[in-house]
Amino acid sequence: MATPQQSDSAAPRRKASRHRGEGQWAVGHRTPLNGNEQFKKDDDGLNVRTRIETIYSRRGFDSIDPNDLRGRMRWWGLYTQRKPGIDGGKTAILEPEELDDKFFMLRVRIDGGRLTAQQLRVIGEVSQEYARGTADVTDRQNIQLHWIRIEDVPAIWEKLEAVGLSTTEACGDCPRVIIGSPVAGIAADEIIDGTPAVDEIHERYIGSKEFSNLPRKFKTAISGSPVQDVVHEINDIAFVGVEHPEHGPGFDLWVGGGLSTNPRLAERLGTWVPLAEVPDVWAGVVGIFRDYGYRRLRTRARLKFLMADWGPEKFRRILQDEYLGRELLDGPPPAEPRSRWRDHIGVHRQQDGNFYVGFAPRVGRVDGATLAKIADLAAAHGSDRLRTTVEQKMIVLDVAEDQVDSLVSGLESLDFQVRPSPFRRGTMACTGIEFCKLAIVETKARGAALIDELERRMPEFEEPVTINLNGCPNACARIQTADIGLKGQLVLDGDGNQVEGFQVHLGGSLGLQAGFGRKVRGLKVTADELPDYVERVLTRFQEEREQDERFAA
Ligand code: SF4
Repeated sequence: MATPQQSDSAAPRRKASRHRGEGQWAVGHRTPLNGNEQFKKDDDGLNVRTRIETIYSRRGFDSIDPNDLRGRMRWWGLYTQRKPGIDGGKTAILEPEELDDKFFMLRVRIDGGRLTAQQLRVIGEVSQEYARGTADVTDRQNIQLHWIRIEDVPAIWEKLEAVGLSTTEACGDCPRVIIGSPVAGIAADEIIDGTPAVDEIHERYIGSKEFSNLPRKFKTAISGSPVQDVVHEINDIAFVGVEHPEHGPGFDLWVGGGLSTNPRLAERLGTWVPLAEVPDVWAGVVGIFRDYGYRRLRTRARLKFLMADWGPEKFRRILQDEYLGRELLDGPPPAEPRSRWRDHIGVHRQQDGNFYVGFAPRVGRVDGATLAKIADLAAAHGSDRLRTTVEQKMIVLDVAEDQVDSLVSGLESLDFQVRPSPFRRGTMACTGIEFCKLAIVETKARGAALIDELERRMPEFEEPVTINLNGCPNACARIQTADIGLKGQLVLDGDGNQVEGFQVHLGGSLGLQAGFGRKVRGLKVTADELPDYVERVLTRFQEEREQDERFAA
């Protein structure tokens, strides 16, 4: 049984050490060292919901307390979006309030990417009624809506919660959405179904004040698929399906991954965790993060920095000794995934003889009306279950064999390809300057245009290739793990004018050979040059590749 500390008074209090300066609660340092720690101490992020329902939604945007507006509202999936018309050159020089629009982005939390047709239909309705029809499938299986007015938030919650959806802890310094294999429980090649663990963690800990004040966000991934379809390498904690030679199917535990400006791959603790123990082990690791995580600087507050200092052996010892009170079993690493594509696109047979059909929106962009059409289409073909993926794609489950062709035609008539080009399949883009206050460049429209252009120019290209576009130096679209990673920034064009463009990173990958792409020194392309540049890189790869060589720098 996990023994995470329940409250301030119960947290371990030890003599202050040299780590005191990092603001670690577990070594006795409880004084907030920055504004974020202060507002979290002043009032729990989860408490803002009552104020939204009883004050802010009635009195309007201007009544919102600044610490709620830019802080606690995230605990309920709400961020202010960027005021339209402010170019990327102003991102770093304007005050946050000058970038704030009076509208919000709202993130709908979808643990395991699991949706019923009815839930998807309701998200589509909310999008059309309250979000000007916007809807983006994110690379963490959520769906984001934009143009939300604070006045409408209680009604939106009512609609979402009536069908079992929520925005609880969709953002904020807390356990974010639990990524799960989108084909958990149905894939014919599954090692183990992690769904019971996803559900139990959600039931016990999401929305609980036990973990609602962490040093920063905490990302979880659980998959028993041999395809390893949850980007476990870059999560704070991941449980990856393995077969133990004596004990059978279970999970290999990975800790401390994360991207952003200091990317770090997660490390194995070398343990085998049976399904029933996943929630307790998860709580132990989150407890370590809450109690020992660094709280002085936001830039050092992710779990990866603690892991970098401790290493996996010490981390495992503290987990066992202080949080679980028992030894964990040693276990084997997962095998190399069989395919470079981990997205379940295409038509695949399930365990029960039915089929699942994965399809590809462009860079995750859909809209509310189309979400409702997808839900209707799935239902008309006998399916009540859909999934989102970490590649900004979607899947319809439980399709009878004689319904597959009709469903594929229906999806393709909505411009969702089931057999997409590698460009449509492998390109992702973050939110970018359209809505994100940190953005320097536009990403979604550019990513979609790049796909179309490459399909036109290179119709014969068939290699798996990933092209990820970020709108700023953060890593919401995982540029460091892409074959071609594009980090948005202002660059100079041929006439010396500052224009939107990208710093290029080449050769990132996931899997057992995981590594971050190399920043190609000095290689920056303007947005207008992007299709020419990518075409040149891919053509050269085709011409010079050795047999079986994969794309790399
Ligand atoms: Fe915003 Fe930057 Fe994240 Fe893109 S990568 S969504 S621009 S913070």
